Amino acid sequence: ICVDVVEVNLGRDSYNIYIGAGILSELGQLMRQFSFTAKALVVSDENVGAIYGAAVVETLRQAGFSPRLVCVKPGEMAKDYEMAMTLYTVAIEEGLDRRSPIVALGGGVVGDLAGFVAATYLRGVPFIQVPTSLLAQVDSSVGGKVAINHPLGKNLIGAFYQPKLVVIDPKVLATLPRRELYAGLAEVIKYGLIADRDFFHYINEKSNAILAMDNTVLATIISRSCRIKADIVEQDAREAALRMVLNFGHTIAHAIEAGTGYAQFNHGEAVAIGMRGAALVSQYMGIAAPEVVETVCDTIRRFHLPLSVAGCSAAKLYSYLLHDKKVIGGKINWVLLRTVGEVQVHSDVPEQIVSRVLAEIT
Ligand code: ADP
Ligand code: ZN
Repeated sequence: ICVDVVEVNLGRDSYNIYIGAGILSELGQLMRQFSFTAKALVVSDENVGAIYGAAVVETLRQAGFSPRLVCVKPGEMAKDYEMAMTLYTVAIEEGLDRRSPIVALGGGVVGDLAGFVAATYLRGVPFIQVPTSLLAQVDSSVGGKVAINHPLGKNLIGAFYQPKLVVIDPKVLATLPRRELYAGLAEVIKYGLIADRDFFHYINEKSNAILAMDNTVLATIISRSCRIKADIVEQDAREAALRMVLNFGHTIAHAIEAGTGYAQFNHGEAVAIGMRGAALVSQYMGIAAPEVVETVCDTIRRFHLPLSVAGCSAAKLYSYLLHDKKVIGGKINWVLLRTVGEVQVHSDVPEQIVSRVLAEIT
C-alpha cells in the first residue's frame, strides 16, 4: 500500500502520521517500532467499534499485543469524568503499566477522551491515535489537545499531550455519515484559505473525486491538511499568536454552536458559516475584495455546507461571541482573510461591522 508520512517536529515529542488506504491492518506492525508492553487498551465508540473494532484487535494480536477493546456511547456525552474513571478502572484491572499503549479508534470524541486518559493514567502512558472521522483526521491528529467536558462547559478539563503515532486510513471514511464527511471538509477548506492557495484550488478542482470518496485524493487532502496544521503548531505549540490563525471561522462558529445549544449544527457546519462571516468582516474592513467572499461561499456550497444560521438572532450570537474563552478583556481577535491563502489578525473590528455581518448570516 502507498503511504504518506507527515512528520510532526516537536523536539522530544516528535511523532509521525502515517496516511494510506488500507493502513488500518498495519497498525500492529507500526506499533512494534516502539518498546511498548503487550497489554493495550483500545478505546472506541459503539458505531466505530462495531465496524472496525475486530480488525484493530486482530492487527494488534498479530503484532504480539493483548488488546482490550472498550466502546463508549457515541456522542459528546461520553467525554465526561465518569467515563474517564471507567477507563482508568479498566486500565488498572487489566494491569496496564507505564509503557502500555492506549489506542483511540474513533472520531474527535474518542480521541479527546482516550487522550485525556492516556495523559493522566500513571502520569502519562503512550497514546496512539487512529482517527476515523475526517474532522478528527485533519484536526485532532496535530496539536496534542486532549480534554473531557465539565457540566459547566466543553473541554474545560484537559492537557497538551502528544501521541506517539497517528495512523489514518482514508478507507474508513466510506462508512462515515455524509454529514460528518462534509463537516470535516469545512476544516480542510479552512486550511486552504489560511495557508495554501494552490491547495484551495485543488480541493475545488477535485470536489467530485472527494465527494465520491476517491482514496488517493482523500489521502492527499488529509496529508496536506495535517502538514499545514503541523507547520503552524511546530512554530507555536502552545496556543499563542501564530496558532491563532487556526481559529479562522471559529470565533463565530463557537457562538453559533453555543447559541443553538449544540443541537442544530455540528462543528464543521458552524465553521463553514463562521468562515463566511469572517470573510464578510474582512470585506467590510476593506481587507478583502468582495470576490474573495464569493469564492469562499462557492466552495462552502460545493461541499454541501451551510452559509447561514436559522433560529438564532444576531443579538444572541453577539452575546455568545463575547463569551468565547479566547476573548480577553472584551477584545475579539479576528482572523481575517486578505485573499485566499493569506490571513491577518485584527483586534480592532468595529462593533457595527460585526453586527452587520451577524445580521447577514442569520
Ligand atoms: P468528530 O466529528 O469530532 O470526529 P465524533 O467523534 O462524535 O465527532 O464522530 C462523529 C460521529 O461519526 C460519531 O457518531 C461516530 O461514531 C461516527 N464515526 C466516526 N468515524 C466513523 C467511521 N469511520 N464510520 C462510521 N461512523 C463513524
Ligand atoms: Zn475546528
